[in-house]
Amino acid sequence: MGTISSPKKRFGAFFGSSQLRYAAAYVLITSAVLIFLNIYTPIPIRSLTFSSQRTAMNDKAQLIVSAFSSYEELNADSVRDVIQSVSELHTNRVIIADPSGCCLYDSLLLSGAEGKLVLLPELAEALAGNDVFHIRYEEDRQILISKAAMPIMAYNRLIGAVYLMELSEDQGALIARLQNTIFRITLGLEIAVILFSMIFALLYSLRVRKILHSIRQMRDGDYTTKLDVRGKDEVSRLGSAFNELAVRLNQSESVRKQFVSDASHELKTPLASIKLLSDSILHNDMDQEMLREFVSDIGNEADRLTRLSEKLLELTRLDSHVQDTQVLVSVRTVCDRVLRMLLPLARRNQVRLDLNCPEDCSILSTEDDLYQIIFNLAENAIKYNRPEGRVLIRAERLDNNVTIAVGDTGSGIPDEAKEHIFERFYRVDKARSRKAGGAGLGLSIVHDMVERNHGSIAVADRLGGGSVFTLTFPLPETKEVP
Ligand code: ADP
Repeated sequence: MGTISSPKKRFGAFFGSSQLRYAAAYVLITSAVLIFLNIYTPIPIRSLTFSSQRTAMNDKAQLIVSAFSSYEELNADSVRDVIQSVSELHTNRVIIADPSGCCLYDSLLLSGAEGKLVLLPELAEALAGNDVFHIRYEEDRQILISKAAMPIMAYNRLIGAVYLMELSEDQGALIARLQNTIFRITLGLEIAVILFSMIFALLYSLRVRKILHSIRQMRDGDYTTKLDVRGKDEVSRLGSAFNELAVRLNQSESVRKQFVSDASHELKTPLASIKLLSDSILHNDMDQEMLREFVSDIGNEADRLTRLSEKLLELTRLDSHVQDTQVLVSVRTVCDRVLRMLLPLARRNQVRLDLNCPEDCSILSTEDDLYQIIFNLAENAIKYNRPEGRVLIRAERLDNNVTIAVGDTGSGIPDEAKEHIFERFYRVDKARSRKAGGAGLGLSIVHDMVERNHGSIAVADRLGGGSVFTLTFPLPETKEVP
């Protein structure tokens, strides 16, 4: 049963998700880049504007200075002549001072400094013989203030200095506009990054939570859960892997359930017989002979239970995939042992045992596995044989394989049963198998053991009646390591 989380919990889970942390890191990094862009992009734009302004101001100051080159000294007349000749300067203020710093001309008519000592630092520096240029951008007024001053020389003698000041609103506005545009673009980008990251994190988190929800459902025993997988990214691949796992678990769960129900059914029958037999002994007066018969039947049922539990244990061992190290095992030696063990049963059933196996025939396995495989097949061949019948075990090397065939002259196996005989608890003739002490597990153990030893098993009818089980194992030196 799945758990239903509250919206608050879901919200909490989202805010604790690693995806949100990645998104936050992504937003932080892009913010840093965009802030950096905002700070550093306007710098070259300003320097470009400043340098073009410097050239323009220097040209203008130079124009005035050159106009004085034909005069020996500065006086009201010479200044007036020059100013008239350079009337189109388009500056906000022009000051011309003599070497002592006294103002000879000031373009500002109202607050003009004419006749006074001018204390502008740019002018003082120009009077000391230097070209001066200062520029400042006032952010709040969006204005560019540039000042230039230049010494006026005549015949290698300083005769004064010129000072220019310009307030440029156009260029100031241009810088402000550019900065504004960059800011708006970066802000838009950042909002898009935040939105995209949040949506992406949310969607990603939702998809992962769906998988988590299904995993919890599976943990609670619902193996039928299936995720709707779209796309090919990591989460989709995770979803597909989960679906495959769910199918596998579902299959093994139903196999397990079937196995448990079959096993308990098989265990119930001998137990019921034991109960019936012991009740009969308790509640009936019987002679010694009959009592012995009943007790012997109880013993037989107990033997059946022992065999059954041994086989169940063997199957559990096979399912756990624990395997001993494989070594070269001589088929001949193992077959001899099997036949020795089965001789009493064969005699009882009047069946003849024959072996045809070369000495040098070996496979890569464990002695216990090969013994168990051949024992189960040979035991069946005797059990399901007829009196005066025959069992023949023939082993040989064929191409790159070793084949071991166990044939009998028994009743044979109907075609429709052939595909089922390796299933657990399957029996063709239930009554006969039960009588022979079988529980339908022998061949499934053989099948699993052959597979884990990299071999294969097939069953066919034998010419003249009966059946042949053929095992094929790769020759040790040519075996492909899986
Ligand atoms: P069991 O313990 O009942 O013998 P197995 O798994 O060994 O179980 O065999 C499954 C069934 O296949 C048997 O019940 C029997 O009906 C049939 N079978 C197995 N081997 C032979 C054989 N050599 N000849 C005829 N029938 C066989």
